[in-house]
Amino acid sequence: MSDATAETQRRVAWSGRGMAASDGAGVKLTRVIGQPALPDLDPFLMLDEFGSDDPKAYIAGFPDHPHRGFETVTYMLAGRMRHRDNKGNEGLLTAGSVQWMTAGRGIVHSEMPEQEEGLMQGFQLWLNLPAKDKMSAPRYQDIPPGRIPLARPAAGVEAKVIAGALDGVRGPVEPGATEPFYADFRLEAGAEVQIPLPEGHNAFAYVYEGAAEVGQPPQPLARGTIAVLTPGAGVRLASAEGGRLILVAGKPLREPVAKYGPFVMNTENELRQAFADFQAGRF
Ligand code: FE
Repeated sequence: MSDATAETQRRVAWSGRGMAASDGAGVKLTRVIGQPALPDLDPFLMLDEFGSDDPKAYIAGFPDHPHRGFETVTYMLAGRMRHRDNKGNEGLLTAGSVQWMTAGRGIVHSEMPEQEEGLMQGFQLWLNLPAKDKMSAPRYQDIPPGRIPLARPAAGVEAKVIAGALDGVRGPVEPGATEPFYADFRLEAGAEVQIPLPEGHNAFAYVYEGAAEVGQPPQPLARGTIAVLTPGAGVRLASAEGGRLILVAGKPLREPVAKYGPFVMNTENELRQAFADFQAGRF
């Protein structure tokens, strides 16, 4: 490896585990971003991992609730979730599908399991919007599993490319201001790969199965560990025993954040307005 490449290699700046949490009507989940140890990572506001084969952990779902000012990205690994909103939109999220929802000026929706038993597993990421887009019209990108292409950037490495591009393979999500990269990697035992990332983007990797070594120098990450990466042009991923992880990057917005629950704005006044609009039924 040349010195120039070494200089722009991302390292692990911080790593840690998620925190057990409960949200919606009592869904048990792991809060990875949005917990006290990692309150946010501009432009990422929250990352939840859910995964249980005990219906009591998920059956109550997420009944009607509002969102304004950001995007929610739901990636289902297993199970089925029914989505409905106050604009008449409805969809079934199946295993391997992605719902990229731009809440914009506001929606009220429910996200309810469409199963009474079996494994329910996946992620929900909250991605901030810049001031200029916070009051945009709500928009959905519902992406079935068949539309998510597979990249094979090295021997023993497969990646489902959800957003951004990898090895000439472009994900189906139309990028907004944060120009996100989001891919789901499967590394076989002994595999290693160098993944280019936009240099100034904030980025993280989260290992959800097996184990992996991330960054240069390599840092071992056990299942359930997030690694926040330093800036750089690329990141090395490897796995001695095999593992699965998501690698996500986004352009930081560097704007003031005023948030309360499901409303994420730039100022306290805009937050008050969001409450008032929601209570008056203006979403
Ligand atoms: Fe929601």
